[in-house]
Amino acid sequence: MSVLVFADSSEGKFKKTALEVVSYGKKVAEQLGTNVVALTINASDSSELYTYGAEKVVSVTNDAFNTFNAKQYAAVITEVAKAEKATVVVVDSSIDGLYVAPIIAVNLEAGCVSNVVDVPSSTSPFTLKRKTFSNKAFSNTVISTEHKVIGVAKNSYGVHENVVAGNTETFETTIVAPGVKSEKIERVTGKVTIADADIVVSAGRGLKGPENWGMIEELSEVLGAATACSKPVSDLGWRPHSEHVGQTGKPVAANLYIAIGISGAIQHLAGINASKVKVVINTDPEAPFFKAADYGIVGDAFEVVPKLIEKLKAFKAS
Ligand SMILES: Cc1cc2nc3c(=O)[nH]c(=O)nc-3n(C[C@H](O)[C@H](O)[C@H](O)COP(=O)(O)OP(=O)(O)OC[C@H]3O[C@@H](n4cnc5c(N)ncnc54)[C@H](O)[C@@H]3O)c2cc1C
Repeated sequence: MSVLVFADSSEGKFKKTALEVVSYGKKVAEQLGTNVVALTINASDSSELYTYGAEKVVSVTNDAFNTFNAKQYAAVITEVAKAEKATVVVVDSSIDGLYVAPIIAVNLEAGCVSNVVDVPSSTSPFTLKRKTFSNKAFSNTVISTEHKVIGVAKNSYGVHENVVAGNTETFETTIVAPGVKSEKIERVTGKVTIADADIVVSAGRGLKGPENWGMIEELSEVLGAATACSKPVSDLGWRPHSEHVGQTGKPVAANLYIAIGISGAIQHLAGINASKVKVVINTDPEAPFFKAADYGIVGDAFEVVPKLIEKLKAFKAS
């Protein structure tokens, strides 16, 4: 018996969620009195995972996995889970993770719970707390099957150092490249993506037009944040669709979400509920977003944002 964790990477480097799922898997393994094994796919150096408790790393290097394909990733995770006799498989709950988890569950005839926010409150019965109803509520779910697949919600458990003397083994998979070729056409270089960002600066129709996004990009740069927007903004072509956040856009689980000139419609809030601290800047004190905000500034974005940039720059320089 072991706990297998899939440590996802991008261009050879581990995502922050990878370190979080390894930390999580280590804790679950402790609860079960077993060891944690991390699986890496095309990561250049796996040793970083020892810092977060991975006693063993199984490394798969294969060009067939250069582009994400849910069935193939699930197949190799299943293959390693069987080889390692893993009864618990842990992945993240990113969009890729949400595709992969149920396929692994079918392969292993396992119960599957995604958007999990904590380690099991009990291992017998195996009980997990998860977010539900667009992150507005929690539910406690019991998995009764022998094998279990857990999808951990980003930023819910956190990254915890737990240094061990791990070792890495290579694994030769039997999986080959799929007949259907998928290509990634959206590539962001040198910028933080919404999915990976700790801080997201988002703006809405209150900004009046695309020509006013300079200050939003400047604020993002000062904070090392990703930029995002509301749906009408991308529908109007002011910003690319890849930045659209919400029920029909991308979900954001950042530590800090700054919403500027966004009303806070329910469809927008559905995408940002999982963010920890929400700051709202809006001229209308009755804007619904203030009800969801941790901090609110009633004011004109064209006055508030430049002042914020000035103060942040001065703070960083001091
Ligand atoms: C099926 C469906 C799915 C949808 N999915 C999504 C989704 O995924 N994401 C999403 O965002 N929307 C979604 N929508 C649209 C959603 O209902 C809202 O229409 C949208 O979120 C509003 O965008 P907004 O807040 O930018 O614009 P508005 O509603 O026009 O609000 C602009 C806000 O800016 C404020 N403002 C104006 N001037 C300033 C200023 N100078 N400084 C500061 N504040 C100012 C105003 O007070 C106002 O609150 C969906 C709608 C439907 C029907």
